[in-house]
Amino acid sequence: MSWGFDTDPEFQRELDWMEEFVATEVAPIEMVLSDSYDVTNPNFIKLVRPLQAIVKERGLWACHLGSELGGPGFGQLKLALMNEILGKASFAPIVFGCQAPDSGNGEILAHYGTEEHKEKFLRPLLDGEIVSCFSMTEPHAGADPTMFKCAAEQDGDEWVINGEKWFSSNAKHASFLIVMAVSDPDAPPHSRMSMFIVPTDTPGINIIRNAGIGGEPMGEGHHAYIRYENVRIPAANMLGERGQAFIVAQTRLGGGRIHHAMRTVGQLHKAFDMMCQRVLSRETKGEVLAQKQSVQEKIADSWIEMEQFRLLVLRTAWRIDQYQDYRRVRKDIAAIKALMPKVYHDVISRALHLHGSLGISNEMPFTGMLMGSYVMGLADGPTEVHKVTVARQVLGEYTPTDDLFPDYHLPRRRDAALAKFRDLIDLEVGQL
Ligand SMILES: Cc1cc2nc3c(=O)[nH]c(=O)nc-3n(C[C@H](O)[C@H](O)[C@H](O)COP(=O)(O)OP(=O)(O)OC[C@H]3O[C@@H](n4cnc5c(N)ncnc54)[C@H](O)[C@@H]3O)c2cc1C
Repeated sequence: MSWGFDTDPEFQRELDWMEEFVATEVAPIEMVLSDSYDVTNPNFIKLVRPLQAIVKERGLWACHLGSELGGPGFGQLKLALMNEILGKASFAPIVFGCQAPDSGNGEILAHYGTEEHKEKFLRPLLDGEIVSCFSMTEPHAGADPTMFKCAAEQDGDEWVINGEKWFSSNAKHASFLIVMAVSDPDAPPHSRMSMFIVPTDTPGINIIRNAGIGGEPMGEGHHAYIRYENVRIPAANMLGERGQAFIVAQTRLGGGRIHHAMRTVGQLHKAFDMMCQRVLSRETKGEVLAQKQSVQEKIADSWIEMEQFRLLVLRTAWRIDQYQDYRRVRKDIAAIKALMPKVYHDVISRALHLHGSLGISNEMPFTGMLMGSYVMGLADGPTEVHKVTVARQVLGEYTPTDDLFPDYHLPRRRDAALAKFRDLIDLEVGQL
């Protein structure tokens, strides 16, 4: 019997240390610094670098990576418990060296990069010296990558990239981009594109503007609209086989999606704690909010939804560790990706609402968190697409019947039961 919900005491001590460290040392940073990817900002260097050193010293750096890549190799279940803590503070992932999209980009480089790529790009990325960007979505198409147009043409021992990309997060701080481009326009749709490493100091990479999320000041966002104009890169910068960009992209997306879900559990806990403190403290009509049934319902619904989501995330993490094969957990990952924005949205909305005007004000974090719930419904693909994956995978486990009536049609079941038991029991007249 291998089911269990215990955390071994030794690892629990690490989690307790992380909880305390994130709350006291890391969380305050977001009150004075706004951009956790601006690794050259002098204040980042002063505040974040010393904390990264402590995490490395403690053996908790890059906890998403296996030991062969310099991480502790904890596996996904332990990582899930750690990410629940890291999800509570915006600087925590970078302090622990496991922030997206660098974590996924690192996985791509580890799988498909040459020794030279690993030395030049992967090593400084894993050490936290640089950050990177994944540049795939285009202004005219996102959810359907077969519509992408950004082109890569071979010219001798170079590739030349021309086209536009949209919402390339953190491009403005990145040392390199991983770009998906059409290299074989006449091939079948899923074999038309290849993946490339493009260093950001290559001539021809023009950031038209940096879009922000709603509510952020115009022009100061983190998501680049990029025009690639005759960007020349060595042929060796192709990652994986020519025309295999979809396969390469999957290397990062499976892990990336569940890591977002793990951190979302942390955000949910944070909002839930605030909600509980508020309803126990605020009085109206002679009693605290917590004594009102409709408020209790909101607390109960939030706790139930949060726990359901958490258990699904943890079981998926456990399955990844068991199978070591993302293809076997596609359904599970798509399911948590589809569920995440809804639970996140619903719990945050209740937390905001129960704080009244304070909740909607810019003196509380709820409106930003609410926007985060919409982000989780889009980044790494919209919810609808993931639900299609769940449905297809689930339905793949069933077979249709050729019969006019289904297998479970009651007359058919009754006839089968009669045949099975006729000699054993006295049949009741009403059932014949
Ligand atoms: C905060 C954030 C960060 C991001 N970072 C990056 C990044 O670093 N790199 C990058 O390349 N991209 C990034 N993206 C882009 C993201 O991958 C896309 O937003 C996503 O794939 C959807 O594409 P789209 O925005 O073009 O929406 P569209 O493709 O235009 O889809 C719009 C809507 O149409 C509906 N829809 C689409 N397809 C279907 C379908 N098959 N069935 C039913 N309904 C459908 C859905 O409601 C969907 O939300 C980021 C997005 C966000 C929000």
